[in-house]
Amino acid sequence: MTARILIVDDIEINLRVLEARLSAEYYEVIAARSGPEALAICRSEPIDLVLLDVMMPDMDGFAVCRAIKSDPALMHLPVVLITALDQPADRVAGLEAGADDFLTKPVRDLPLFARVRSLARLKLVTDELRRRAETAMQIVTSDRSDWNSVPEDGAKVLAFVPEPDEARRLGRQMRGGTDLAIAAEASDFLARCVAGEADVAIVDLTAEGLDPLRLVSQLRSLEATRRLPVLALTALGDEVGAAKALELGANDYVQRPIDRGELSARIRIQFRRRRYDERLRSSVQQTMELAVSDPLTGLHNRRFFEIHLARAVERAGLDGSGVALLIADIDHFKRINDGFGHEAGDHVLKQFAERLLVTIRASDLACRFGGEEFAVLLHEADLATAMPLAERIRNAVAGSPFDISGEPIAVTVSQGVAVFQPGVSDSPAALFRRADAALYAAKRGGRNRVESAAAA
Ligand code: GH3
Ligand code: MG
Ligand code: MG
Repeated sequence: MTARILIVDDIEINLRVLEARLSAEYYEVIAARSGPEALAICRSEPIDLVLLDVMMPDMDGFAVCRAIKSDPALMHLPVVLITALDQPADRVAGLEAGADDFLTKPVRDLPLFARVRSLARLKLVTDELRRRAETAMQIVTSDRSDWNSVPEDGAKVLAFVPEPDEARRLGRQMRGGTDLAIAAEASDFLARCVAGEADVAIVDLTAEGLDPLRLVSQLRSLEATRRLPVLALTALGDEVGAAKALELGANDYVQRPIDRGELSARIRIQFRRRRYDERLRSSVQQTMELAVSDPLTGLHNRRFFEIHLARAVERAGLDGSGVALLIADIDHFKRINDGFGHEAGDHVLKQFAERLLVTIRASDLACRFGGEEFAVLLHEADLATAMPLAERIRNAVAGSPFDISGEPIAVTVSQGVAVFQPGVSDSPAALFRRADAALYAAKRGGRNRVESAAAA
């Protein structure tokens, strides 16, 4: 995976060295010599990751980071701050400025590349979700998923820490109010993660005699925990363990001795990112549902139905299973609209859809085709199963009046039924034509009736 990395440093030699190392790993590198120049580049071209020197004249790294993270167009950019200072207070300041990570000078290859890979990978996923959600936003006028409106507190943290003393120490380093639970057994920890008990998981890599890295990779491979943020807790200076954990899919790590501010800041960032992704995901889900369903009745729409029918017909051609198509059109619907108003007409359409749904089998697909026309696709069906079903639908509609704000309205429906003929030169379009012709015959024959089509 390649990525475009922006490196920002006021010292030319630092830029050159970093550029050479990253280029050797096939990353595309863009250099900026000041904060304002970096911001201008971020705004004018696609960047996947920013490596940002903290100490620069005029605008320091914290300020650049804050500017990026407060700009709606740039806030998704992962930022890694690079500094000579190795003080927890500075790391916390950096994380509070919104930085995704921190590297200390001299930057060694192992942590550098582990970070770059893991952040670039994360961004890839988030970007795709964001693009889909943006498309969704054009279709739906739902609220914009705004990073700043995502809550950052209240995470439930579950930590795998087998050693009781270490567990107590971790508890003491948690900010007051953090909901921390400890699991001493690996199987218990996994089960609780799978059960959704945690918003953020912590895995102690120093657990002796066990293989905590295996736990990290298990969390990544299980469907239920694939997106659970995982923080690795490493021994002091254990960069190899940290790099391995990131490689296996951990989202971040904290080194011992644990700094309370840093731990909280990293938990908050992971929690927020998870919440943000969840929002994007549900927005994508909503759009997909809207794209395939009819907003008035909640039934599938014509687009979905046609694609689904084509697939069913193809399958029927292969395995000889029967497919039947039923088209239903409400009788004299215009009179309902004219007599009771358009809104009453809409209510009739909704109630019609409800009666249709409770009458057909779960394996039958109902859709609103448009206006007061509906279609039902019957799988594994022939005329002998389709005709009685159509008759049941007719009865479900004509059998009792519809209720429009307490007023009873008599409604009837006409239907045409056709069956797909595997092996013959039949097609979805021809099937539709036959069902439609049968419907026309039902209308002509006096309405409130069912007609079947002649075979293809
Ligand atoms: P027929 O028995 O021959 O089917 O007569 P009909 O009046 O049902 O058929 P026609 O196709 O002439 O009229 C259908 C009417 O349905 C016309 C249109 O204004 C109305 N209509 C289409 N979509 C909607 C809708 O979403 N809501 C409402 N209330 N009316 C709709
Ligand atoms: Mg009609
Ligand atoms: Mg009509």
